[in-house]
Amino acid sequence: MSETVLELENVTARYGRIEALRSISFSVQAGQIVTLLGSNGAGKSTTLRTISGLVQASGGTIRFMGEDITRMPSHDIVARGLIHVPEGRRIFKGMSIRENLELGSFTLKDDTERRRRMEHVFEIFPVLHERQHRDAALLSGGEQQMLAMGRALMTSPRLLLLDEPSMGLAPFLVREIMRIVERLNSEGVTILLVEQNAKMALKLADYGYVLETGEIVIEGDAPTLREDENIVKAYLGT
Ligand code: ATP
Repeated sequence: MSETVLELENVTARYGRIEALRSISFSVQAGQIVTLLGSNGAGKSTTLRTISGLVQASGGTIRFMGEDITRMPSHDIVARGLIHVPEGRRIFKGMSIRENLELGSFTLKDDTERRRRMEHVFEIFPVLHERQHRDAALLSGGEQQMLAMGRALMTSPRLLLLDEPSMGLAPFLVREIMRIVERLNSEGVTILLVEQNAKMALKLADYGYVLETGEIVIEGDAPTLREDENIVKAYLGT
């Protein structure tokens, strides 16, 4: 039987007078990769921000592992293993790669566990290992994305919210990021993926939801969505 990791029920969110999410409901099952698709401004990033507590939901309920997290502060949500890798990566420049990774596990008291996690991150991202003492500001866009994902892994997440991990990357790096998302998922991390690159997202995902002006307008398993004429026309090109 599958286990529901994340569940949104009639969630609304607003920025002042702008209604960014209009009663959205969806769920993510353990072990899945679920993707949120939609054009610019549809509300994808707001959905992730609302789940991770960066934006306060104005209505509805968000449950993580069965627990109501709707009004929980972000740091308590993180402590439960729900980790958000935001668009634009937000790495700490002026600090080394290693220091950035350590920040991902600063609440962890067990040094052996911290070392084990860092070795795991270095195994997944050898480039971060090679450059661990370099300033994060010197990394390329792709490497910054890897660092942001590596830092998230230092927390040993149950659910990763990934916002546009392929943004601005050359095609070979997009493939690399895809490979890494697949690997993390095969290691047991459940993933909610926001992507402009719908082709990539639907190749990776088990299930997808399409957002339009703050509402879910289409949903289905990924192979079905790949064949859906409206989706092909709007997001996959003809
Ligand atoms: P994109 O791919 O462009 O990030 P998106 O689907 O992630 O698009 P959101 O960023 O969630 O969309 O935006 C949803 C709506 O909320 C849009 O109308 C946007 O202009 C508005 N919005 C987003 N962030 C803010 C903010 N900080 N203040 C005011 N309005 C915002």
